[in-house]
Amino acid sequence: MASHHQALRALPSVEILATTLSGQSPLPRALVTSFVQREINRHRHAILDGATPTREQIENDIASQLRAFAASRLQPVINATGVIIHTNLGRSPLGIHAANKLTEIATGYCNLEFNLPEGTRGKRAGYLETALASLLEAEDATAVNNCAAALVITLRHLCKAGKNEVIVSRGELVEIGGGFRIPEILETSGAQLVEVGATNKTHIKDYANAITANTAMILKVHRSNFYLGGFTAEPTTIELAELAHDRGLPLIEDLGSGALLNTDELAPIDHEPTPQQALRNGVDLVCFSGDKLLGGPQSGIIAGKHKLVAGIKKEPFFRAVRCDKLILTVLQECIDTYLSNRLPKDPSNVPALDFIAHQTETLRQRAENIIAQLPDANQALCAISPSIARTGGGTMPQSEIPSVAITVTAPNTSITKLAKNLRTGRPAVVGTVEEGKVRLDMRTIFPHQDGDIVTVLNSVLSR
Ligand SMILES: *Cc1c(COP(=O)(O)O)cnc(C)c1O
Repeated sequence: MASHHQALRALPSVEILATTLSGQSPLPRALVTSFVQREINRHRHAILDGATPTREQIENDIASQLRAFAASRLQPVINATGVIIHTNLGRSPLGIHAANKLTEIATGYCNLEFNLPEGTRGKRAGYLETALASLLEAEDATAVNNCAAALVITLRHLCKAGKNEVIVSRGELVEIGGGFRIPEILETSGAQLVEVGATNKTHIKDYANAITANTAMILKVHRSNFYLGGFTAEPTTIELAELAHDRGLPLIEDLGSGALLNTDELAPIDHEPTPQQALRNGVDLVCFSGDKLLGGPQSGIIAGKHKLVAGIKKEPFFRAVRCDKLILTVLQECIDTYLSNRLPKDPSNVPALDFIAHQTETLRQRAENIIAQLPDANQALCAISPSIARTGGGTMPQSEIPSVAITVTAPNTSITKLAKNLRTGRPAVVGTVEEGKVRLDMRTIFPHQDGDIVTVLNSVLSR
């Protein structure tokens, strides 16, 4: 390690940079030195191969690599994209109650699997499962690490050798994102995909004709991140449930997001199907994400018939996808929030829903306030413009939520450089670039972050 420290001291500009980098706290010195050592080695090899960089070029290169590395450390970001559930920016922010509870549970012991009145081993997630079932009007419910895991374990439970065919409409073979596709998830779960219908039209008789002695279930997948319009048809959930049950099969629905509130009552946007509705329509099990429109932590919720949920929890594979105490705590607080709110349309304490429900007029006033706090020269570079926000995260792809944006230009800086300066500001501000301007959409900025926006704008515009 001694030589590492020497390596760092030999590069004074890098040394200074290392002590100032990373928004929240300095990078560990041992990490910086090993990083710099590796970069010096890379240059050494390049020089042996004939490269002839100057000392200054090497220093600048290492400094810029180090800056990029420091920026990759997980840190808070102000989401000014207008996309509420932004997968790249961590999907749903948690409510403050849930976060506070998390600190309390995380820094001490808790009754994770301990029955306090009896002093004996207790049931893991027992409270959460009862609360979920109550909220979702389901016989039973449980939670796993994410919705993909919920789907995999459901498929594994219901597909047995010789009875593993899963019937899915060709209009629902969704790619979720990051390259994950429903057919591939089925395959890794030991299921045999049986596609029915056409891309635009699937009829109840297509499903009926595909049922054989090997059929394990009918699977309905919500088209969460794209929409199908024009000459289209599909059976209703009620029709599908009748068919499945007549033939002694379960009907499973992957809802993807699954909103617990009626989203169309929060803003003039689409109605995202709710798990409650799916279960009422006869679906035997639904699964959906905890960190999309639910506004909780990364998790996958499974709800429906008691016999199926209990069977899933007995699968050996359940152990591999079960939630840890931190996730269980946050999810429990989040579900309690819903149960305490005046349903069906009170979004308070669920930030993702609050963002959907904010009045555009309030957003405009906040934008005006932010600009008013800038010095005149910087005010001249900013303007207010109507904008369109989206729920994102593979939810309601057609829904446009009216919003307000601050548009920013800089006289002596390219627009890409300006956007980069904002993204590497303290805190980082992620906007979008459109028509030669950086746009900061107010809908996804927390009101308590308005002061940070003023600070970062001043810092990048006054360079
Ligand atoms: C998002 C989504 C998933 C995956 O959810 P994760 O919680 O990210 O695993 C599965 N199915 C559908 C239809 C989705 O929209």
